[in-house]
Amino acid sequence: MSIRSEYPCLEINLKKLRENIEAMKAMCDKHGIEIAGVIKGFNGIARCVREYEDAGVSYIASSRLEQLEETKNAGIKTKTMCIRIPMMSEAEALVSVADCSLESEISVLRAVDKAAAERGRVHEVILMADLGDLREGFWTVEELVEAALIIEKELKNLYLVGIATNLGCYGSIEATAEKMNELIERAEKVEAAIGRKLKYIGGGATTSLPRLLDDDMPPRINLLRIGEAIIYSKDLPEFFGCDMSFMHNDVFTLKAEIVEIKTKVSHPVGNITVDAFGHRNTYEDRGMRKRALAAIGKVDYCDFHDIYPREEGIEVIGASSDHTILDIEDAKRDLKVGDIVEFDIRYGSGVFLTDSPNVKRIFV
Ligand SMILES: *Cc1c(COP(=O)(O)O)cnc(C)c1O
Repeated sequence: MSIRSEYPCLEINLKKLRENIEAMKAMCDKHGIEIAGVIKGFNGIARCVREYEDAGVSYIASSRLEQLEETKNAGIKTKTMCIRIPMMSEAEALVSVADCSLESEISVLRAVDKAAAERGRVHEVILMADLGDLREGFWTVEELVEAALIIEKELKNLYLVGIATNLGCYGSIEATAEKMNELIERAEKVEAAIGRKLKYIGGGATTSLPRLLDDDMPPRINLLRIGEAIIYSKDLPEFFGCDMSFMHNDVFTLKAEIVEIKTKVSHPVGNITVDAFGHRNTYEDRGMRKRALAAIGKVDYCDFHDIYPREEGIEVIGASSDHTILDIEDAKRDLKVGDIVEFDIRYGSGVFLTDSPNVKRIFV
């Protein structure tokens, strides 16, 4: 017997996704910027990736080679980009599924060059410069130039297409116009050393979009790797104060079924120790409240703070592995067992929900 519950499910609106990609592309086109569409936020679901191809992004990008392989296997022809510094051990897999990669280690570049030579391919490379966020990238411009010269002179199966940076991931550093100009300066030092112009200067990810919205992106920046802003634009107004009202916030809808409704006290009764995950929690005493249990839990979305009930008056107050506890005292609807509750999701929960075999995917 093969059991497949109808709920929980994740409804994916492909039309809204497509419109978001197109809106983002129109905005980037206006600034002369190409898009690498980052698909890791939804685990590279091929039907979603096709919308990126049809909207005409320049690259399909992911940190995971498995997702790029699935993209290729689905017959998607858009060039692919690996955006995590590749493992030396995956050099061969890299050149077979990625047309381009972000790089920061000369030893890895040599391994990738060798793997590309064995396949008779030329693999595109973008060298990463660290501008202070302290994740990947060459720290000094001298090291960056040295790597560029090695690629240009020695590694015949690699082609240096650009310089890029990543900001706001580890060090929480803002992608200011000054940071962008610093990147351009470093790229121009590389250009002077190799004696030709670079095709791309990559100004970062979603965290660099405020530069477009504020219209102060330096003109030489011409590539952005965009994941979050297209799929979960809800995050941007909150974190960066951006107006993203031109995008759909509801590409994804999470639906879960209610399995219990009871009115109970809101503070646990007895000796409080640790929860199912060994954490010590505090509980607010709000008196008697009507509560609902939804059949979905941390195993599906990780953190219950990253799912948002769409209906006013419903609040997520906690979760265990397989249950989500909702306060429905103030719900407008007279909820019953068997009813379905809808949630918005964001990056933090979306990466889990799109990867869970327990969450059915529905395309609309
Ligand atoms: C994940 C990632 C991105 C995309 O980031 P978003 O915030 O989703 O736009 C871009 N570049 C690199 C190197 C990444 O790892």
